[in-house]
Amino acid sequence: MFIGHFGIGFGAKKAAPFISLGVLFTAAQFLDLLWPLLLLLDAEHVTIAPGITKLTPLDFTDYPISHSLLLVIFWGLIVGLFYWLLKKNTRGAIVLFICVISHWFLDFLVHRPDLPLYPGNSPRLGLGLWNYPVPALIAEAIIFVTGIFFYLQITTAKNRSGKFGLWILIALLVFIQIGNILAPPPPGVKAIAWAGQLQWLFVILAFWVDRNRSILTK
Ligand SMILES: [Zn+2]
Repeated sequence: MFIGHFGIGFGAKKAAPFISLGVLFTAAQFLDLLWPLLLLLDAEHVTIAPGITKLTPLDFTDYPISHSLLLVIFWGLIVGLFYWLLKKNTRGAIVLFICVISHWFLDFLVHRPDLPLYPGNSPRLGLGLWNYPVPALIAEAIIFVTGIFFYLQITTAKNRSGKFGLWILIALLVFIQIGNILAPPPPGVKAIAWAGQLQWLFVILAFWVDRNRSILTK
């Protein structure tokens, strides 16, 4: 799943308007920001197996640090605690915790049974919606659009950057989503890992867009 996670980041703004969209994106996409780094460090592994699901050619053979439910809860607590120590804001910490763990549950919908509950010899879960491209893409699009809807409800552009920047960010996310679906399988694991680092671009862009928008108070 890709844009669905960013949809959660957008939507979370409504629950915690005082948190920058850049931080919300980092939390909602935390596992997939961590994962490419762990691939580069050879701490987690993936194989390219075209046909393994209809929508993605990736076989997530081993990713307990970034994607086992136990460690996902741990990462959620770390992110929440880090925020709380910085800002002493419990609501914000809870929202970020939920954003981090939401990632696992959204992945659970689409992945084949490859998501471990804990590192080691764990059962692996996943409903495998990626084998049903239309429902999978519709579900992801609904989450994305709903998130943007909430974000637009709670923020308004201060200037042109806040207005057009947002639509550029949305267009780029959709563009990458379409690219992910249509592109041929990646040439290798290194390519996946480096492409994954490019996601930081969305985080940076989100910080910038959010700074150029203000919160609508009722
Ligand atoms: Zn993931």
